[in-house]
Amino acid sequence: MSNQKFQLKPLPYAYSALEPYIDTMTMEIHHGRHVKTYVDNLNGLLESHPEFQSWSLEQIVTNLDKLPESIRTGVRNNAGGVLNHDLFFAHLTPNAGKTPVGKLAEAITETFGSFDEFKVQFKKAALGRFGSGWAWLALTNDKKLVITSTPNQDNVLAEGLQPIILIDVWEHAYYLKYQNKRADYVDQYFNVIDWEKANQVYSDLV
Ligand code: MN
Repeated sequence: MSNQKFQLKPLPYAYSALEPYIDTMTMEIHHGRHVKTYVDNLNGLLESHPEFQSWSLEQIVTNLDKLPESIRTGVRNNAGGVLNHDLFFAHLTPNAGKTPVGKLAEAITETFGSFDEFKVQFKKAALGRFGSGWAWLALTNDKKLVITSTPNQDNVLAEGLQPIILIDVWEHAYYLKYQNKRADYVDQYFNVIDWEKANQVYSDLV
């Protein structure tokens, strides 16, 4: 199709690569169907508003007030959906080191007291998000690390924060393997975080 400005970004690893922490079928459906749907919806919404097709996802989610009201909510949900998942999948790796590295490791210890305490607080944010959404480790304008969560497909960029790591807590992210046990999914997520990548992102921002 023409005018398909936004694309489903291929995963940087196989669907099975995050086993046993995140199962193959969840990854296939999550990436191949859920994210694909956000991409298709976003392209569909912008078909009649081609002036926004050249915008980046980051520009869109930080300038929602500039969009026509008729498409604003749809674009918010679907552009956020594409951006959040691109970030989420890019920040996971089958070769995870399991602990933070570099400057980010130092900043996590300084901010939260220890990595263990960070995990406690991050998990609390992930479990405390009622319904669907995301939990984040993010950076403020004055370069402080904060843990926060957002509803639906909202991205912390819209709140003036920079994402460092994020976890999808929509049920589609974990239900096939973990059912109602979001806490177990969060515990296992810590096994697949790409801390090298997170440290690069952090180091480029501070
Ligand atoms: Mn998702």
